[in-house]
Amino acid sequence: MNNIVWLKASTSSKGKNMADVTRLPGPNADLWDWQLKGACRGEDPEIFFHPEGERGPARENRIALAKSICATCPVLRQCAEHALAVREPYGVWGAMSEDDREAIYAPVKEVLPVAG
Ligand code: SF4
Repeated sequence: MNNIVWLKASTSSKGKNMADVTRLPGPNADLWDWQLKGACRGEDPEIFFHPEGERGPARENRIALAKSICATCPVLRQCAEHALAVREPYGVWGAMSEDDREAIYAPVKEVLPVAG
């Protein structure tokens, strides 16, 4: 997971659809140690992140495989909390797909005032 976290937090060069790094806890290693225990360490990142244009059953099967790995993970709670806190835009985190996380955010969007 460690590699995935840093990859995800730094992949977009256009500044959009990135994790909100202002919500990250900072460089204290104690706050990131959970990543070293992730069940996804050593797994192919393509299980957790969709390839370009992936749709339908291929996407569903990949997400199900990723979630099955998460289900065995000793740091699932920490991973899920991280993903929700920084609003990770891509991938399966804490047994949640992108759509799962969006469904959690959706009610929040309805009550927040619109900026501007
Ligand atoms: S919950 Fe899933 S994505 Fe998060 S560290 Fe564990 S295996 Fe990796």
